[in-house]
Amino acid sequence: MHFLHIHQRRYAQFERLRHETGLVHAFSTRPANVGPRNNPHGAAERQAMAADLELNAERLCYCEQVHDTKLTIVDADMTAGALPHCDGAATALPGLPLMTFSADCPLILAYDPVRGVVGLAHASWRCTVAQATARLLELMTSQFGCQASDVRAGIGPGAGPCCYEVGRDVYEAARGLADRDSFFERRNGRLYFNLWEANRAQLLTAGVRPEKIETAGICTLCHNEVFFSYRREGPGCGHFGLMAAIVRD
Ligand SMILES: [Zn+2]
Repeated sequence: MHFLHIHQRRYAQFERLRHETGLVHAFSTRPANVGPRNNPHGAAERQAMAADLELNAERLCYCEQVHDTKLTIVDADMTAGALPHCDGAATALPGLPLMTFSADCPLILAYDPVRGVVGLAHASWRCTVAQATARLLELMTSQFGCQASDVRAGIGPGAGPCCYEVGRDVYEAARGLADRDSFFERRNGRLYFNLWEANRAQLLTAGVRPEKIETAGICTLCHNEVFFSYRREGPGCGHFGLMAAIVRD
């Protein structure tokens, strides 16, 4: 990832996606807590982030996130603010920022420069086994006419395969994933889930070319000084966010 400061605040961007002239995107980092839940400073933090990215916070639409696969198409009729009960969103409206949040869950960014469409998904383990990332690509192709081969995608920081220990219940819940066993590793009697690879596989199956997918590869547990981690900090920990918008280039 590429780290940069804007007005004394630190952000992270995907190395390749940051060069796309029709897209603006960034991940917030500590100490900014941009999450909407139980966070009185969240709105101000999101506003500051939008301003740093030269985006209009008044138009920001953010996912409420309930660990499911409902995705919302944001069009001109929608009111800005929270997108209820949804874990992802897509839009073709220039200048309209979308946002998802995380404290360990990888956040997925998909961008089609041909159609001018951006999509985000929250890839918690529940969303991952329910294939939210696959659904995001379906939505982009069916509703916006995107070709998966045109799509550039990024898999954000999250709990890595080094640290993301899960129970047997997660393995069982993942039964619908093709190649399930390739995403789980047993070490010293413990089971680890590779969320990055499980989501990358969904992008590849959807038709996204491997050279157009970048994985941040930053584990939020190993790098808790940069990103919030629920596993490290427990309930009440803050959230980092991914904000992205189509811009006219
Ligand atoms: Zn780790």
